[in-house]
Amino acid sequence: MRILVIEDELQLSGHVCRALSRHGHILRAESDGAVGLQAALSDPPDLVILDLGLPTMDGLEVLTRLRQTSRSLRVLILTARGEVGHRIKGLTAGADDYLGKPFAMDELVARVEALGRRGAGAASEDVLKVGDLHMNVRDHKVARAGKPIPLSPREFEVLKVLMQEPGRTFSRTELCERVWQRDHQYETRTVEIFITRLRRKIETDFGVPLIHTVRTVGYAISEVSPAGFKPPTPPRA
Ligand code: CA
Repeated sequence: MRILVIEDELQLSGHVCRALSRHGHILRAESDGAVGLQAALSDPPDLVILDLGLPTMDGLEVLTRLRQTSRSLRVLILTARGEVGHRIKGLTAGADDYLGKPFAMDELVARVEALGRRGAGAASEDVLKVGDLHMNVRDHKVARAGKPIPLSPREFEVLKVLMQEPGRTFSRTELCERVWQRDHQYETRTVEIFITRLRRKIETDFGVPLIHTVRTVGYAISEVSPAGFKPPTPPRA
């Protein structure tokens, strides 16, 4: 992928660029918000790695302006410790993922690769599909077999995380962190409640289950059961 890093900590920026270059990506770096925005607009990369605290224009402003011109550009934001509010604002403003500083370089590389797969698989990132379940991310609409399914904003977010990477198993903790920006183990009960609600809405009237419980691990959405999932015995006629 062609990646633009907008980060004013030059040492960190250098580490990031070297690590991602080693994985075959083409890197470009800017250290100023306004200059970085201009670079992204004039020669759009596949992914922007965006620090939030930047000179001349902060990262959130850069992100907001990027989103006005491109919804499909992938953006991963970097947030310093204690910037939880910013992280939430960043995700609301349209970031695809975030990483808190300090982070392990392996973690960054893994996130970047995941974002790359997400982009490569979908013709349009605005529409996610798993079987006959369709999600229009931009319009916040979900339909199964052509029938619209109303979801609350949180239900939508949980389903979106699952649908962005079909077949991948998400632990309850990870879902909790991705959707609620919390990582407390005890909050995972909330995830179970939302999964139950989603199943009622997207599966009950349609027969074929899509959300699979992967024992002791978490949940995955897919047309076929992922490894480790034992499907329930079908009722006898
Ligand atoms: Ca900074």
